Amino acid sequence: MHIVYSAAHEKHRPELEFYEGELKHYHDAPERTHIVLEAVRAANLGPVVLPHDFGIEPILAVHTPDYVAYLQGAYRNWVDTGGIPAGVYPDSFPVRRMSRRPTRPSALAGYYSFDITAIIVEGTWDAAYQSAQCAVTAAAQVASGQRAAFALCRPPGHHAHADLSGGYCFLNNAAIAADWLCRSPERGAGNMAVVNRVAVLDIDFHHGNGTQDIFYERADVLYLSIHGDPDRQYPYYLGGADESGAGEGVGYTVNYPLEACVDDQRYMQVLGEACQRVRQYMPAYLVISLGVDTFVDDPLGDFALTEAVYARIGACLAQLNLPTVFIMEGGYAVSQLGKNVASVLTGFNDINGNQGQ
Ligand SMILES: [Zn+2]
Repeated sequence: MHIVYSAAHEKHRPELEFYEGELKHYHDAPERTHIVLEAVRAANLGPVVLPHDFGIEPILAVHTPDYVAYLQGAYRNWVDTGGIPAGVYPDSFPVRRMSRRPTRPSALAGYYSFDITAIIVEGTWDAAYQSAQCAVTAAAQVASGQRAAFALCRPPGHHAHADLSGGYCFLNNAAIAADWLCRSPERGAGNMAVVNRVAVLDIDFHHGNGTQDIFYERADVLYLSIHGDPDRQYPYYLGGADESGAGEGVGYTVNYPLEACVDDQRYMQVLGEACQRVRQYMPAYLVISLGVDTFVDDPLGDFALTEAVYARIGACLAQLNLPTVFIMEGGYAVSQLGKNVASVLTGFNDINGNQGQ
């Protein structure tokens, strides 16, 4: 399994965020990614490779041109109009019936955000762009016949909508990879008219509101998410069991909002249900939004998974027997983060190896 990694993520290093009423160190620190890289290297999962540059097209296939242009220029425009160099910090949001698009950079920051966690610093665009390229590169690996690939993305992506950042996310890496797999000419036996069906299974602790929204009216992408119930957990405003898609997408969004203190047994039961739905869909590819903030000690989650379950999760996913792209999302219990990610991937690989015997 190739590990796709770019050091460009280090350019995205906001220092502080406002969290639960206090200024705190930014949760999505570069060190998270270094820890995961070290762990997957130690686990001998496969070579660490740089992303190819697929250009802006796969990004624009998912995100709106005005949003992408905003992200590219946001930091420079902010600083040039007197904003603090520490980063772009939105403070006003056009919620409910306020839809006028402003020109002032500080107001645009709120226009293109749904919360105050996706802070833009000078290197954020480069980091987000390369993170998306890691996702597409991993997708291209499985499209060309590899069983699986792991995109060690940072910043993460699953909270980002087509034109909104939030939840530490700017570009939706999983959605970009899934969309690319749906329509890229290399697939479908060379027939560009064929649209591949892709399942995105989101196992981050938080609901992937951005991914759901991007594919909500599409039938060629099945989106499933197992997460803390939004009644009590971020992102609060999407992720209910009653959200099942719209238009052509009716039935192709499946949410499993769960209670607090979910243990290994309960989680594996729900994961089994989700995998059964994936089987029914018969996709050509599987994209996993891989977060391990489901771990018992994670400061941003309230599940109670132990380290032993992560290899079982990987094994369960492998049994779907699909070309699989893993996309890194969240996980903030840094002492255990690397080990848990490596366990999912090792558990996946072990099943794959056994099937070949
Ligand atoms: Zn998360």
